[in-house]
Amino acid sequence: MSGKWSQIGVPHKGWTCVSVDDLGAPDAVCEMCETQEIRYVHHMEHPDYRDSLGVGCICAQHMENDYEAPRRRERTLRNAAQRRHRWLCRKWKISAKGNAYLNTDGMNIVVYCRTRTLWTARIEERATGRFETLKRRYTDEDTAKLAAFDAMIILKHERGWSSRGKQVALSSSACIIPRQR
Ligand SMILES: [Zn+2]
Repeated sequence: MSGKWSQIGVPHKGWTCVSVDDLGAPDAVCEMCETQEIRYVHHMEHPDYRDSLGVGCICAQHMENDYEAPRRRERTLRNAAQRRHRWLCRKWKISAKGNAYLNTDGMNIVVYCRTRTLWTARIEERATGRFETLKRRYTDEDTAKLAAFDAMIILKHERGWSSRGKQVALSSSACIIPRQR
């Protein structure tokens, strides 16, 4: 028992994960055991403890007394990071209006130019027709495509678009974009 596991007043069970971050590399130390270096940070909260703790998979498993959920969260982030690498190489089609688009994950993703140099994207859930447009504008098409990917992952995992099962709270910016080192 190391770190906060042996500290009086720190609950061992009954924690809830509120979000999870991918740091891109093992850049943090688990705040529970205070020894494990971690890449995926599970942010845990407890009604009887004032701070939230950023912990690793193994400590998270004990704290929420669930061996599957923390692993599932990490798998989701890992898969997303791998997909993001391949995202620009996918076969984007060209719409009648001349915009690149992709149908994937039950969504239709269109990247287009607002002005000659400002790109954005629109993501539509095909089953319902609801859609979101990226808030920011990008200076090139590829960057807009990657931003659309991040938005799609968040819509899917945080808002439950076109996905069944339990939603995972992924921390938006850090979830897919590796931190600059
Ligand atoms: Zn730990």
